[in-house]
Amino acid sequence: MEVIEQVGTIRQTVQALRCSGKTIGFVPTMGALHEGHLQLLRASAQENDITICSIFVNPTQFNNPDDYKLYPRTMEEDIALLKTVGCNYLFAPNAGEVYREQTLLQFSFGVLETVMEGEHRPGHFNGVATIVGKLFNLVQPHKAYFGQKDLQQVAIVRQLVNGLSFNLELVCYPTVRETDGLAMSSRNKRLNEEQRQIATHLYKALQQAKAELKQKPVASIKQSIAEYLQSINQVALEYFEIADPDTLQPVEDVSKYKQVALCIAAFVGEVRLIDNIIVNLNEV
Ligand code: AMP
Repeated sequence: MEVIEQVGTIRQTVQALRCSGKTIGFVPTMGALHEGHLQLLRASAQENDITICSIFVNPTQFNNPDDYKLYPRTMEEDIALLKTVGCNYLFAPNAGEVYREQTLLQFSFGVLETVMEGEHRPGHFNGVATIVGKLFNLVQPHKAYFGQKDLQQVAIVRQLVNGLSFNLELVCYPTVRETDGLAMSSRNKRLNEEQRQIATHLYKALQQAKAELKQKPVASIKQSIAEYLQSINQVALEYFEIADPDTLQPVEDVSKYKQVALCIAAFVGEVRLIDNIIVNLNEV
C-alpha cells in the first residue's frame, strides 16, 4: 500500500489509474479505524480494481474545538489495518495541503440540515460537503462507500452527488456494532471503562423505542426515551428523533410509514455519540 500526502500526487496517481482503465473504490474516513470502516474497505476491494482510503480529520466539520483536538489519531495502527483489507492507496494529507486557500463556499441543504445533526452542529454539514466534494474531485472514484451509522451524512452526500452531478455511485453499508450493541465509532476510544459500559444505553434506548413504536404515540415514545436516559448517570441526551429514513424529517404518525429511522445523539461524559436504526414497521 502506498501512502500519499500531497494533492498533486493523488491527482497524478488517479489520472494514471483511470487512463489504464482501472475502477476506483473510495472510502473516506477520519481514521482511528475500526470494523465499521474495514467493512467498507473490504467491500470496496471486492468490487473495484483499486481501493483508496482517505484519512483526514477535517477541521471545517467540527463545531466544537475540543472535539477536533481530542479526536483519536492512530495513524500507525490504521496503516497496519489498511494493509490487511486490500487497500491500495492511503491518502492522508494535512490540513494545510487540503485547504491551501481559505474556502468561502457555503452549501445549503434545505430541510435536510435543519434537523438532528444539522440543527445541533451548526456548520457541520457545510464542512462535510466541502471536504467530500474536494475528495471526490481529487480521488475521482467510480464508487464511494459510506456507513448508515451517519445516516444524515449519507443523505447530504447523496444530495451533493446529485446536485453537482458527480459521476460516481454511492454505496451505503449497515452499522457495525460491538457484541453488546454499541455502534462502533472512533470516538468510543475516548470513553473510559465505565463510560464504555454506560454507552450501551444508547442502543438499548433505540431498542426500547422500537418496541414502543406501535404501542404509543410518537410524543410518548420520545418522553419515555428522555426519561430512560435521564435516569442514567453521565448520559445527557441531545436528541431522540423518529424520522423518515429518506428525507430525515420528523415523523408524527408512524402508521403512515413502512419504515422509520430512530436516531439518537447523546453525550456520555464529554464524548458525543450518535446512533440510529431503521425499523420496518411490519416487523414490529
Ligand atoms: P468516520 O471516520 O467516522 O468519519 O467514518 C468514515 C465512514 O465510516 C463514514 O461513512 C461512516 O458512516 C462509516 N462508519 C463509521 N462507523 C461505522 C460503523 N460502526 N458501521 C458502519 N460504518 C461506519
